[in-house]
Amino acid sequence: MHPGRVPVMAGNWKMHKGIHDTGGFVRELAAQLKERGPIATQVIVAPVFTSLSVAQQAAWGSPIRVAAQNCHWEAAGAFTGEVAAAMLQEIGIGHVILGHSERRQHFGETDATVAGRTQAALAAGLVPIVCVGEVLAERQAGATEAVLARQLGGALGGLSAGQVAGLIIAYEPVWAIGTGQVATSAQAQAAHAFIRHWLDGRFGPGTAAATRILYGGSAKPDNVAELLDCPDVDGCLIGGASLREESFMAMVDAAEKRAGKNSG
Ligand code: PEP
Repeated sequence: MHPGRVPVMAGNWKMHKGIHDTGGFVRELAAQLKERGPIATQVIVAPVFTSLSVAQQAAWGSPIRVAAQNCHWEAAGAFTGEVAAAMLQEIGIGHVILGHSERRQHFGETDATVAGRTQAALAAGLVPIVCVGEVLAERQAGATEAVLARQLGGALGGLSAGQVAGLIIAYEPVWAIGTGQVATSAQAQAAHAFIRHWLDGRFGPGTAAATRILYGGSAKPDNVAELLDCPDVDGCLIGGASLREESFMAMVDAAEKRAGKNSG
């Protein structure tokens, strides 16, 4: 982690937790955060669409921010099953996960659709959390950087430097998502440094220094400290380990510890 960037710990709940579980979780998390006092880390949870309003209500007055897991590139229209960015903004949502590998793998998401969704999110005032990452065969073929450059160029190519500085990128090696096989801190740092270098080349050093880059892929309480010690890792996007209050809170605490270490 770097003292110049606000760390983010974000829970991606995928298709888990209906309104009852979401409300209970967020209330408990808010209570635990209150006990800890002011925090330096941005804490985000991303429930399913139907649980967003309940999460918002439960998070009210706490530092917890609520994210959606997708948004469409159009403002309205014949797009069954989709939700527009402005509709999320209307209910107070501030962040949206875009281009997650599960969307790319199962729902035909492409670099072009991720770009459209990202632009729509920004236009509606949402902070996109744009996911990129290579599959195992691409890593084994030595193509990780080429894949990241293609995905970043595809998603962010049409944006201004200022827009990119305000969004969040999540590096999620697909082979590490939900597999229990976390990237080593050296692998994570190398990919994050490459992404920052790519941002520098495309948008300049100010944007590269400002953009938060999260690691995602089997991050857990027992490996998170090592990941957060990487200078270009600004937090985590957490799937499985964010579903239990205890493990998510332990990971937020780990980020807080590091934030304190940095500022001290
Ligand atoms: C994710 O789905 O974004 C993710 C990182 O999942 P997990 O932590 O379970 O690997």
